[in-house]
Amino acid sequence: MATRKKRAKATLSPYRGKRNFRTTAEPRGGSVRARAAALEFVVQKHAASHLHFDLRLELDGVMKSWAVPKGPSLDPAVKRLAMQVEDHPIEYNRFEGTIPAGEYGGGTVMIWDRGTYAFWDDDPDPVERLREGYAGGDLKFVLRGRRLKGSWLLVRTHRGTPEKAQWLLIKHRDAAARPGSDIVEEQQRSVVSRRTMAGIAKAASRSDR
Ligand code: MN
Repeated sequence: MATRKKRAKATLSPYRGKRNFRTTAEPRGGSVRARAAALEFVVQKHAASHLHFDLRLELDGVMKSWAVPKGPSLDPAVKRLAMQVEDHPIEYNRFEGTIPAGEYGGGTVMIWDRGTYAFWDDDPDPVERLREGYAGGDLKFVLRGRRLKGSWLLVRTHRGTPEKAQWLLIKHRDAAARPGSDIVEEQQRSVVSRRTMAGIAKAASRSDR
């Protein structure tokens, strides 16, 4: 357990190094937290310099994170580029609001989907299978969100750098697949607050005054 906590702390230092926590309302991370029954995932819509979606999967006490420029697709024929970014704290899953302009990632953040996830087969040690998949660049998982469900693949390509590896996010063919659909176009509101991006941005600027 001590090792896991230490590992989470070390892996959050790039995240902390990029941010000024006196200016941004984003969480610093590392608060003591009871172990949840299931691993969490979140997808945040983020209007930074470029609009993108951040997919985060809990593993070993942090959120493994990818920036997905076009967002997830329920169409198994569609492969979405997913650029690996720094690990985020688990507390980030609750963050919806505006990062101040000039700060790292400045712009509006919406919680677009969230829920739990798991390894995609029955296995006596599913977390070890997820670790292996992540390390090996071939991650198979099942999402149990409001908008994203069923089995998915994240496959690491040979492009990018070790710190910014390029992966592909692909919906596996199953009952939750919807060929021809465009879920990010269909769903324009926060899964938590039902606000639009404009609504979140407006609320943030009001509380700044
Ligand atoms: Mn982002």
